[in-house]
Amino acid sequence: MFIDIAKIYIKAGDGGDGAVAFHREKYVAAGGPDGGDGGRGGNIVFVADKNMNTLMDFRYKRKYVAKDGENGGKNKCSGANAEDLIIKVPLGTLIKDAQSGLIIKDMSDGQNFIAAKGGRGGWGNQHFATPTRQIPRFAKPGEPGEQRMVQLELKLIADVGLVGFPNVGKSTFLSVVSSAKPKIANYHFTTLVPNLGVVHAFEDKDFVLADIPGLIEGASSGVGLGTSFLRHVDRCRLIIHVVDISSSEGRDPIADFKAINSELKKHSDRLSSLPQIVVGNKCDIAYDMNAIEKFKDYVTKLGYPFFLISAASKNGIKEVIAKTVEMLDNLPDTLIYDPEITINEQPVKKTAQDFSVNVHDGIYYVEAEWLPKIMSGINYNDFESMNYFQRVLRNSGIIDRLEQMGIKEGDTVNIYDFEFEFLK
Ligand code: GDP
Ligand code: MG
Repeated sequence: MFIDIAKIYIKAGDGGDGAVAFHREKYVAAGGPDGGDGGRGGNIVFVADKNMNTLMDFRYKRKYVAKDGENGGKNKCSGANAEDLIIKVPLGTLIKDAQSGLIIKDMSDGQNFIAAKGGRGGWGNQHFATPTRQIPRFAKPGEPGEQRMVQLELKLIADVGLVGFPNVGKSTFLSVVSSAKPKIANYHFTTLVPNLGVVHAFEDKDFVLADIPGLIEGASSGVGLGTSFLRHVDRCRLIIHVVDISSSEGRDPIADFKAINSELKKHSDRLSSLPQIVVGNKCDIAYDMNAIEKFKDYVTKLGYPFFLISAASKNGIKEVIAKTVEMLDNLPDTLIYDPEITINEQPVKKTAQDFSVNVHDGIYYVEAEWLPKIMSGINYNDFESMNYFQRVLRNSGIIDRLEQMGIKEGDTVNIYDFEFEFLK
């Protein structure tokens, strides 16, 4: 099966916690703080793989979690950084924000991409010694790794897309101009996967041709096959529009041509404005010369280059390829999508913004998934450590929220059973 859409959850590793430790040595009475730093959490890194052409893997595995950084140790031992988690995707995969559908990154440029950053490790207590605070009994916890839901969407990278109704000979065409071996059969919907073929036209004039499953009317609104495959011609620079000119199935070439173009238009403006070469196929079994002339007139009047061919007997193929190369020479490159949002603008702190405050019997209960972790690194008997904790509460907006909710001096705040009096 060909899978070209997948939604997955990615989470980078959390940073390791800094350690609280004190130097101990025989015959040395009281050593200084020597708690090491936590290591960095692993990033989630997407890597484009030229040899992949489906998102099949992601159908079975939908959760990708990188390892957390190691906690710091004593003797100033830093925790090890966690390895990045590499996720391989086919070249041409778009990484989108699952919620908004906006493009985060187009993996067509072959560059590795960090889609979720690992959290930084927390500092060990060795950093918190000052002349006035020689025994820092606290360290910083590691920062949480970024997490998000992303939608992966494969858009094949091809210069030219073959479009047309099922059974008109698209796969046959691809098979005679390239070494691709698409399935060819005399029934509709034979092509259930898009096929790519490299056409070696002339010296250094190669181009990539995509054969996508046949479009049928209503495809762009999701009826039957086709609409989901149109995305694979989205990047194309040129379309070869194949029409069965033989009317062997009782079809009207002009009606077919119009129907396909209207599907392209419904799919996207870009697709419908791409230049087209129109190819009338199966001329070997076409007997109604009037119908052929009528079709040819119709498309040439609209300004399309037209070729009469027989893909099966390779008649007229060379001319189509020559025209394709000539037109490609003057067309812009295959489309690479610009990011529509940059996830790196979301600082790690963002995850620390989510919290809830509820009042019961005059006590303000604060809850946040990220708070217990921070609190585990706090030493409530240490002035500096408490200062740090207060800064966290202020920076995350919790204090503001409490004030908005009308908290007064002396009221009780409860954070995971740690209770204190609110002071302005
Ligand atoms: P697709 O669905 O558009 O990919 O069409 P296929 O390439 O699978 O071809 C459908 C049927 O038409 C197959 O039986 C082919 O052998 C046949 N066919 C393709 N091209 C020609 C041609 O030029 N002449 C004739 N007579 N048959 C053809
Ligand atoms: Mg086919």
